[in-house]
Amino acid sequence: MKASLDDLAVFGGPPAFAESLCVGRPNIGRREDFLARIGAMLDRRWLTNDGPYVREFERALERHLGGTHCIAVANATLGLGIVARALGLTGEVILPAFTFVATAHALKWPGIEPVFADVDPHTHNLDPEYAERLITSRTTGILGVHVWGRPCAVDELTELARRRGLTLLFDAGHAFGCSHGGRKIGNFGRAEVFSFHATKFVHSFEGGAIATNDADLAARLKRMRNFGFSGYDEVAELGINAKMSEAAAAMGLTSLESFDEIVKINKENHEIYCSGLGQVPGLRVVEYDPDECANYQYVVVEVETAAAGISRDALHKALWAEGVLARRYFYPGCHRMEPYRSLPRYRGVRLPMTDQLADRVLCLPTGSAVTPRDVELVCMLIEFCRAHGPELSIRLRDIVPAPVPAPHTY
Ligand SMILES: *Cc1c(COP(=O)(O)O)cnc(C)c1O
Repeated sequence: MKASLDDLAVFGGPPAFAESLCVGRPNIGRREDFLARIGAMLDRRWLTNDGPYVREFERALERHLGGTHCIAVANATLGLGIVARALGLTGEVILPAFTFVATAHALKWPGIEPVFADVDPHTHNLDPEYAERLITSRTTGILGVHVWGRPCAVDELTELARRRGLTLLFDAGHAFGCSHGGRKIGNFGRAEVFSFHATKFVHSFEGGAIATNDADLAARLKRMRNFGFSGYDEVAELGINAKMSEAAAAMGLTSLESFDEIVKINKENHEIYCSGLGQVPGLRVVEYDPDECANYQYVVVEVETAAAGISRDALHKALWAEGVLARRYFYPGCHRMEPYRSLPRYRGVRLPMTDQLADRVLCLPTGSAVTPRDVELVCMLIEFCRAHGPELSIRLRDIVPAPVPAPHTY
């Protein structure tokens, strides 16, 4: 461990981790099972187009979610886009600015205007009262996001959408395996969209699934993900290519079989983070409701500069040098990213809670590639940095972070 500030890697000491710890390093699951599936797939020569693995994956997801219809797609971004189109969303749709930029892009791409609402600073999720104030004659829907897999204000938003005659859907990109009121996410609104990107808790390399309780909508979405084909030579409507491949579904099935194992690892890591950082002044570890299902995929701390004596960005800089590649999700917020930032309609947008969170939040590494010992070390590093906060902050001001060898994109 570090005895003095000079031992920190950012000042030339040896990094705490020779091999970097990353946020969202993929869980692999049982390799032999995956490879056996790939072998059978090659023997069948059925590689895509509603193949047996895609169907099996969809049925497995449906069992997991408790009855809802599931439509596997190439990724969640396309999934959100086709749902928005299938539900006839036009004009403006309200969503939180504190989300992954894909939530906004998925609307913008089919020509819908994303309208950014502020979030509740405690839940990090869309503030329903703020959302209501943004409703205009052009508003057709609300897109809630279950940030970190913690359900957003589902009941309030359901009531609001009903009262104002709006379509409600959810970006459940983080929330596979999570529940609200004892019911699995995937059963709320008109539809919910999961992501099975490699960095997600359960994944299919690239992939996603739309969950809906509406059988007619499900049938339409299946058509839309396949160019709108309703028969061999018949196209019923404007579709796109949002099909999941068989290789992706083979990974999805294998990943799903490790569900319990991964939750267990994530939960244990989360608990170690909580006990290691829970008492550190100025730091707050985001907690999950113990009475609900959660996947614990995101270990999120809020750093309050004044109380901690160090800013989130200073801590981030020191940790990266140590090989702890913590992430500042969702800095700086969608409203401060292109193309939104430069468009006239977003120029006056001020979202103080989103800005505050974007300046405070740090996501820490977890998952099956991170051991309990790693987590303990990360906690000790953070506490060390905080304890030396004021001096460290001054010395860090002149440090230009060393370039990271390669972008860590899984
Ligand atoms: C990952 C993610 C997406 C994008 O999912 P893809 O499958 O990569 O398209 C969208 N929204 C949220 C909240 C996400 O975390």
